Amino acid sequence: MGERVNMAAEKPEKDHGSPLGMATLLITHPCFVNHDTGFGHPERPDRMRAIDKILSHDVFKSLVREEAPLRDDVEERICLAHTEAYLEKIRSIATAPIDGTRHIDPDTVVSEGSWEAALRAVGAGLHGVDAVMSGRAANAFCQVRPPGHHAESERAMGFCLFSNAAISGLYARAKHGAERVAVVDFDVHHGNGTQDIFWSDKDLFYGSTHEMPLFPGTGAISEAGVGNIFNAPLRAGDAGERFRDAFESRILPALHDFGPDIVLISAGFDAHQADPLANLRLVEADFMWATERIADMAKRHCHGRIVSLLEGGYDLVALAQSVAVHVKTLMDVGA
Ligand SMILES: [Zn+2]
Repeated sequence: MGERVNMAAEKPEKDHGSPLGMATLLITHPCFVNHDTGFGHPERPDRMRAIDKILSHDVFKSLVREEAPLRDDVEERICLAHTEAYLEKIRSIATAPIDGTRHIDPDTVVSEGSWEAALRAVGAGLHGVDAVMSGRAANAFCQVRPPGHHAESERAMGFCLFSNAAISGLYARAKHGAERVAVVDFDVHHGNGTQDIFWSDKDLFYGSTHEMPLFPGTGAISEAGVGNIFNAPLRAGDAGERFRDAFESRILPALHDFGPDIVLISAGFDAHQADPLANLRLVEADFMWATERIADMAKRHCHGRIVSLLEGGYDLVALAQSVAVHVKTLMDVGA
């Protein structure tokens, strides 16, 4: 597995990047703090600053750091997962002169810096996929905002404009010939957007642990797509043991049966016990464990190819520490 070639894929262009050996790539950009969501909004620029600070520690010296690019093909790639009409709608809202902030819905807000941030957040995922599929990097973490997993093909919601993970996955297929693409989502909220976009394609896998009932209200076990969607809802108050059990009994066996050519992680850290938006009780060790288990599957099926994209996580200390553990684990499994 992992060596299948999709003949319909685009002809790969020569990769001009220098080989990184088996390094872990960190992809981010200073512009992500310019996406202003307004005073008191949990999805705020300080999330980037908290992660920047912790990843500046010596432990992360061997990370290869690259800027999230503003790519010429980004709009074309967005349309792998979203309609052109939707892209134009978001463009017109986010590029119109904005004094302060503008609400797309009660939760989802844009400011003057949002359009560039949204395009670079998508670009980070595309860049990560290029690096990992070409073997230039072992795996990649995209430290981005706005997040993506609530954005449906024609609807922004839950702080999300474009479905970063779904776009990256569909790009891995279109550009690199990955026939079977998996997204594993351990954000505390269900990724209704990724589910929506992957719903009817058996070669796209979506597996999610999430608290339920909770925003956005989707994510029941019965939501199964064409047998390619695996939801594992947890209840308020559940801690690491239930989370690990959901992975071991449902997500990981399904992922193993699926046999991915690349694994994308919707890495949200709001299932942490300190998070203000939800009521699961995970700790850093649980995120480390999940990262190791996902990496183990990626190693078995697709040479360890993982592109992880930041989703939620709203307690700054818990977020930074959880990202640190997640990224360190990616470094360890990639080494
Ligand atoms: Zn979330």
